[in-house]
Amino acid sequence: MPATEVPKAVVKTGPGYGWKVKCTESYYVWGDESDEGLELESSGDICLLQRYRYSTFANRDTPPPYPTDLKGLLQTEVALRENTQREIALKEKIEELAKEDTYATVVQDLQEELSTLSKEYWTLERRWWEIRSSYCDGPLARGIEFWRSQPKWYMHRVLVEDCVGRGGCCGRDCGCCSHRQSERKFAVGHCTVECSCCERARGFALDPEQKSQLRETFKLDCNRPRAWYYDRMRTASLLGLMAGNYENPLNLIVDVPPRYTAPSEESQGSKWKNYLRGSSR
Ligand SMILES: [Zn+2]
Ligand SMILES: [Zn+2]
Ligand SMILES: [Zn+2]
Repeated sequence: MPATEVPKAVVKTGPGYGWKVKCTESYYVWGDESDEGLELESSGDICLLQRYRYSTFANRDTPPPYPTDLKGLLQTEVALRENTQREIALKEKIEELAKEDTYATVVQDLQEELSTLSKEYWTLERRWWEIRSSYCDGPLARGIEFWRSQPKWYMHRVLVEDCVGRGGCCGRDCGCCSHRQSERKFAVGHCTVECSCCERARGFALDPEQKSQLRETFKLDCNRPRAWYYDRMRTASLLGLMAGNYENPLNLIVDVPPRYTAPSEESQGSKWKNYLRGSSR
């Protein structure tokens, strides 16, 4: 065959993945976009494109040979957020204690916990990439890449609503979730049991048992009675989608005003100083 001649197009179906790729037999690379995906991309209908990408994952007849661990990814992200929110809380405590004549050992203990948190963050970050890098380069991965590349993807209506429901900062005007005060890449997102602003608003610290109970209640897991909760969080968090909604997912990003100044002493509540020392992990 002359070098300039383009081979005849053939239709290939990825084993178990349920999306058809029309391509030239010679030039096909696993994970290439299908004709359907390319058409939707050029149509500019982002909702339909994301729904198509979701369907390649959710509507399979045959399970894939290597499962895509979405649950593990989302659970790791929650652990990373908890870690960073605990870190923020500890730094606030250290700053506050520095203003007082406090025993150095208290501060030293907090510094040690900070160091442990840093190591845990490092491990969790690698765990995240271990899971994410195992995904097939197909439509679903492209859908996740697209959504997660949006600067405020985590302010999706569904995720904000969940934060409000759990008593998180999105239900107040502090703006913490939109502008988390951390340099950590995985700090972005909503409140966990470790959010210090939530603790101040609540007026009391959660004990370890209460924390683990809340973790268990809202655990993102498909094999549980709350599987629909998991499904709702998963589609919103990874693809920007919402059942029964056909709007451009970018329009579902809630615009919460940023917090330009630190919360005042008054808004922190009168019990703030008491539980500065009292909160436990
Ligand atoms: Zn909070
Ligand atoms: Zn807040
Ligand atoms: Zn929130």
